[in-house]
Amino acid sequence: MLEVRGIETFYGAIQALHGVDLAVRRGEIVTLIGANGAGKSTLLMTICGAPQARRGAVLFEGNDITRLPTHEIMRRGIAQVPEGRRIFARMSVFENLQMGAAFADPAHFAADLERVYTLFPRLKERHQQRGGTLSGGEQQMLAIGRALMSRPRLLLLDEPSLGLAPLIVRQIFETIRAIARDEGVTIFLVEQNAFHALRLADRGYVLVNGRVKMAGSGAELLANPEVRAAYLEGG
Ligand code: ATP
Repeated sequence: MLEVRGIETFYGAIQALHGVDLAVRRGEIVTLIGANGAGKSTLLMTICGAPQARRGAVLFEGNDITRLPTHEIMRRGIAQVPEGRRIFARMSVFENLQMGAAFADPAHFAADLERVYTLFPRLKERHQQRGGTLSGGEQQMLAIGRALMSRPRLLLLDEPSLGLAPLIVRQIFETIRAIARDEGVTIFLVEQNAFHALRLADRGYVLVNGRVKMAGSGAELLANPEVRAAYLEGG
């Protein structure tokens, strides 16, 4: 479904990604783990076309999307839940969800809203509350809900567990699993919380200094001594 081939991304003269190859198949949950600054966010942003890769290619459902503008990439069926959630703080929960549907077929709106409220009953209870006054976990739910309003076939998540209490992290990961299993949405998840991410994922990649250093099933990577030493122990 998604193929990343030899991606090289730069910020001015600084090269953040040095030829990244990876693939996500339809229906999978795939995670990319790595330390701070490894280039995880840059890879997700490159898939979304901002910044664009200087070399290499991104293919979605067989089509080259490397040079498309972000809105066109979204229109084709990819949605992103950005790092830090980027909720519209002054808008209500409902209005945030409306924003997520901005480019979607209005005929689907009511059904899509119901689907998000079923997935996150808390958002339904708080539909009139301003986004900025929600708890961190609720904001993460809203960011995921907003992304789902565009009916993506591929959902990209950037560190959904960041700054959340352990119990909330478990709930969020459980919901991500349900979105994949019950809604058939393919998931590509970037995480520093390697333990949860690898337990959830069918497969994972380890990014080190802008290069993929390891790949395997979630279980294989969880058991791998190098992964354990670098990302799991003491973490
Ligand atoms: P984090 O978990 O901290 O978000 P990350 O793995 O997502 O880390 P990136 O944010 O992708 O890493 O950063 C990769 C590299 O690119 C880092 O060296 C970072 O300093 C650099 N970088 C990121 N954004 C910019 C920018 N806007 N301008 C210049 N350099 C940047």
